[in-house]
Amino acid sequence: MKISFHGAARGVTGSCHLVECGGYRVLIDCGLYQGGRELDEENAEDFGFDPASIDFVLLTHAHLDHCGRIPLLCRRGFRGEIVTTSASRDLAQLVMMDSAHLQEEEARYRARRHIHHGHAFSPEPLYTVRDVQDSTRHFGRTASYDTPLALADGVNVTFVDAGHILGSACLLLELREGDRARRVLFSGDLGNAERPFLRSPARPPHADAVVMESTYGDRLHRPLGPSVEEFYAAIEDTIARGGNVVVPTFALERAQELLFFLREGQQQHRLPESLQSFLDSPMAISATEIYERHPECFDREVAAQFSRGQDPFAPQGLHFTRETAESMALNRVSGGAVILAGSGMCTGGRVRHHLRHNLGRSQSSVVFVGFAASGTLARRIIDGAKEVIIYGESVAVRATIHTINGFSAHADQAELLAWHGQTGSPGRTFLVHGEVDVMQKLAARLGSGEVVMPRLHESFDL
Ligand SMILES: [Zn+2]
Repeated sequence: MKISFHGAARGVTGSCHLVECGGYRVLIDCGLYQGGRELDEENAEDFGFDPASIDFVLLTHAHLDHCGRIPLLCRRGFRGEIVTTSASRDLAQLVMMDSAHLQEEEARYRARRHIHHGHAFSPEPLYTVRDVQDSTRHFGRTASYDTPLALADGVNVTFVDAGHILGSACLLLELREGDRARRVLFSGDLGNAERPFLRSPARPPHADAVVMESTYGDRLHRPLGPSVEEFYAAIEDTIARGGNVVVPTFALERAQELLFFLREGQQQHRLPESLQSFLDSPMAISATEIYERHPECFDREVAAQFSRGQDPFAPQGLHFTRETAESMALNRVSGGAVILAGSGMCTGGRVRHHLRHNLGRSQSSVVFVGFAASGTLARRIIDGAKEVIIYGESVAVRATIHTINGFSAHADQAELLAWHGQTGSPGRTFLVHGEVDVMQKLAARLGSGEVVMPRLHESFDL
């Protein structure tokens, strides 16, 4: 029995862990490395194992850094079965398809540049839409929470609600090889108990070994309530000034959360019923439609709303703008609109058009509600740039800039420690999905048992 780590090892993206037991090989997640072009090479490198030798892929959730290398795995020979929850399956297919479109676009762009520079060079995309279509054929059984699934002789898995995004799960692997039995628990990404509409992370089962994420292992989140209040206040002030509110939005989870809070704000009379809001992102619109098809994933209150025929993601005055022409028409709206558009870090997508039209207007505002990596347009605006370049043009920043930090989809240090404390004093804990200094701070507080921070491709006996 062995475990090895082929991604998110001393880093936060590219989750990919391999368990071997009784001749079977089970991969837990197969995510993309994210963070800029310099990671293209990391994504294209050898997996560290033969994809054709893998029997099962178990997917914890549909974020790109957990599912984004599945099409590449299939392209390189994987022929086994992918098992996940029904909601994760729908979302992962959307996320992988979006990623393939971006990869193809990027490859075309690079090919044009090379031709421009006189080189005969045709850079291949990491994978294509066709590869994603092929990989969807490998999705097999769907998992229900808390119901053990027999994968193979001596290999059982149970999906447990992780409360992170729709369909997300922690995985308990129950392994048997000869007279040796082991219970290995993977946290996946753990949610934040304060989040709306999803259930809180479920109490984890006991395990001999735990593989735990540590994204926010060194800090405590601000409470959600004041952040939502700040969001409402920013909208009210901007509408009163006659401007628009532009919210750079991640398509998965954050967009649905904002729609949920807009609706709640109207119901609690914190926001006007006449408020006009626009979800200007085809990807976020599709994700929202998937959310609406999975009421089984929600907490009791929101599930009851669905059964009464109410849609918690549909504030009054909401418009979905899927077509480019509809999106362009928004540029003529001079005030009174809340525009949610991707990408969250403003590195691409329609939000850049809205920033070009609104950043220079002192009546408008831009509200950042998510993580912004250094080097991105979002980061420059948050850091107080007086002028930014968008589509090659210089745009003065006169709009009011809000940065609201309480909307995290991840557990903080206290929640990680509490979750780990319920796993029954595991003999060994592997920390993954975190920066090294963050993992060290978390490790120092984990109490009894050995704590390991595996390196890329490092392997351990279980
Ligand atoms: Zn995640």
